[in-house]
Amino acid sequence: MRGGFLVSRISRDFGLARLWPWIEKTPTRRFSFAAIVAVAASLLHWLIFPLTQGRTSFIFFPPAIILVTTIAGRWPGILVAAIGVFNSALQKDPESLFVFNSAEQVAVIASVLVAAMLVWVGDYYRSISRRELHDLHELHELSATLASIPMLPDQLQLIMHTFARMHGADKGLICILDRQREGLAVAASFGFDPAALETLRERGMGTSAMARIARARVVIEDTERDPRFSSLREMARNDGVRAVHATPLISRDGEALGTLAVHFSTPRKPTDREFRIADICARKAAVFIERARAEELVSERDRRFESVLSSTGVPFALMSPVRNTSGKITDFRWSFLNAAAARIMRCTPAEVIGRKVTDTFPRAWEDPGRFELYVDALESNKVREAERQSEADGNQSWYHIVASPLDGDLAVWFADISQRKLQERALIEADRRKDEFLATLAHELRNPLAPIRQAATIARNVNATDAQKRWSSSVIERQVQHMSLLLDDLLDVSRITHGTLQLRKQPTDLKSIVSAAVETARPLIDERKHQLIVEVPDDLQMYCDPLRLAQVLSNLLANAAKYTNLEGKIRVHAQQEEDELTITVEDNGIGIAQADLPMVFGMFAQVRSAQDHAAGGLGIGLALAKGIVVLHGGRIDAQSAGLGQGSRFIVRLPNAVAASQSLPAAGAVRNGSGASNKRILLADDNRDAAESLAIILRLEGHDVELAHDGSSALCSFAARRPDVALLDIGMPKTNGYEVARLIRAAPEGADVLLIAITGWAQDADKAESRAAGFDHHLTKPIEPETLLGLLDQH
Ligand code: ADP
Repeated sequence: MRGGFLVSRISRDFGLARLWPWIEKTPTRRFSFAAIVAVAASLLHWLIFPLTQGRTSFIFFPPAIILVTTIAGRWPGILVAAIGVFNSALQKDPESLFVFNSAEQVAVIASVLVAAMLVWVGDYYRSISRRELHDLHELHELSATLASIPMLPDQLQLIMHTFARMHGADKGLICILDRQREGLAVAASFGFDPAALETLRERGMGTSAMARIARARVVIEDTERDPRFSSLREMARNDGVRAVHATPLISRDGEALGTLAVHFSTPRKPTDREFRIADICARKAAVFIERARAEELVSERDRRFESVLSSTGVPFALMSPVRNTSGKITDFRWSFLNAAAARIMRCTPAEVIGRKVTDTFPRAWEDPGRFELYVDALESNKVREAERQSEADGNQSWYHIVASPLDGDLAVWFADISQRKLQERALIEADRRKDEFLATLAHELRNPLAPIRQAATIARNVNATDAQKRWSSSVIERQVQHMSLLLDDLLDVSRITHGTLQLRKQPTDLKSIVSAAVETARPLIDERKHQLIVEVPDDLQMYCDPLRLAQVLSNLLANAAKYTNLEGKIRVHAQQEEDELTITVEDNGIGIAQADLPMVFGMFAQVRSAQDHAAGGLGIGLALAKGIVVLHGGRIDAQSAGLGQGSRFIVRLPNAVAASQSLPAAGAVRNGSGASNKRILLADDNRDAAESLAIILRLEGHDVELAHDGSSALCSFAARRPDVALLDIGMPKTNGYEVARLIRAAPEGADVLLIAITGWAQDADKAESRAAGFDHHLTKPIEPETLLGLLDQH
């Protein structure tokens, strides 16, 4: 055995492994080889003949005979032996060769015997070496073929077949540990039919299971005799098995991965060679099982990684760099794209994966700085982030991009931040509008102050004529009216945005609403010398808040007057249609650019082109108008053919608003001068306000007593017993509510007319004043007309 190994080792080391099969292949090669060796031995033989005097000249033939017999076989060996014997006979005296029992004859016969023995020895080596070589060849073939088979089951099946063939076995099994079931499962088999495999599985895999548990080879030389096999004997008999040996498959870290077993139909003791082959095949099987498990682990991890990335809503892509010959990155190639990213890019992952970015999206690198960002992330091996606007999705969306190097590739996350960007832009725009509004507000409030101050100066002047004084007071009245309208608008807009504006609906007719609106806007219309055409049917009755609707129309009319050049034309037209009432305010003024139309109803919206045109306005008039119309269940639209083409504002109200209900006597607030004069207590800590109102009331013939705080108001009330008390709310010492409560609590205070005059105009304030006992709640600056009307009614 050892000799066989030696030969095979020499063969391997000296390249005989390849030469040997080549020589063996044909008889011609075998005999030619024998002839060459024999000639070489003969030459050497005759070369040293003169030196040895023929005594040791046969020395070259024994190795030649063994070499040729081992490599080329018995008959070529016999040929070399015969040539050797012939050569040694040639050295002898021919005559003495035929003399019986002569020394020469004995020497030749001895050399024949030696040659025959050497042929026999060579033949023996040959048989061993051939098998070793054959095994070597088989195992070599096995390794080579295994490397080209991708799947573990096929690899194990090949190992099984080779192993069984090298053993000359009838049956064989490779089992792998099933980790979930904690038992062995057949991974490859040879010679077993499915039913036998099923029985084996049911019986716990017999010898294989023993080998796995023992983590060592189990050899059953005779199943009929071995006591370890007693429980499986019957099954073995059924399968025709008499001997079996199983080798565990041990991983590099010592885990028993499975077993490799062969079964024989006759009792048998395995040879060392078979054990060695079993070890080699078991090792190979273990390596492939381990490799498959590692690959499975990696692909499982990849699958999980991929499924997480695929299912996440965050767009994600993996890209590998494309370099030119000098190693510079010129492009990227898609390696992975999740569904969210594919959605944004309007493609499927399959369409782009494996392709270059520029092949799939030719304009991808036109986004400034994006390519540089990716290259920088990769080359600096650092995470890079940026916000970029992309055209890839056709929406000009904004993305927050995070590019992170990953094993030579680039992982890229995109978060869609378009919404945030829009909000940012809206905030900036709102901020800009707010600044503009504050500037306009300051300007608008300061505007009336100059004429008021000047008028006051004139009125104070002792030399001023009565006509000048009257003129001054009319200026002051007009400007105050203008300021209070501004403040009213502001308050109303705030109420609309907070949803607290309440409509006071009542039956009314459209004509009176339009008249009231025209009356308000008239000064401006006249000032700018516009022609006003009003086309409103007489009989259009409505159920709405007349003051608010008049506010809408006066806003529209004031705008028409403001945004129309001098001597323009303004038309108010109303008409009842099938399911709605439309009121149109039209002008031939500066018009509105198409792009600005949607914005004009926004809060603080002022169209730039209009700004130079008209002084006045806070950019809230239309927002307010829209809010009021919407509260009535209607809508308002702006139309214009463009700049310089005039504008048209159309208010549409549902028919529910335009209801035919009987009208009360049309709304004069004051019913003339027939009322008797009153004794009035007027309490306000603002002396100017109190005194100016007192003058107005006295001019109307009323008797007015002034107080400037709550306590003096109460004293005055007790002393004078007035018919009416006009009380400011925020007074020092005792506030207006308290004073009202105390007056009402007094026996003489039950009938007195209590009117609150205050800057607090919220509904809650009104409710509180009602609770304190006030009959009316007037907001500063009060309309003298309204107050006088209330006094007249009392
Ligand atoms: P403002 O106080 O600026 O008049 P509004 O809310 O009433 O505010 O109007 C908003 C903007 O709409 C105005 O600044 C103006 O640019 C435009 N606008 C309103 N009415 C007209 C109109 N009749 N003709 C042209 N532009 C108008």
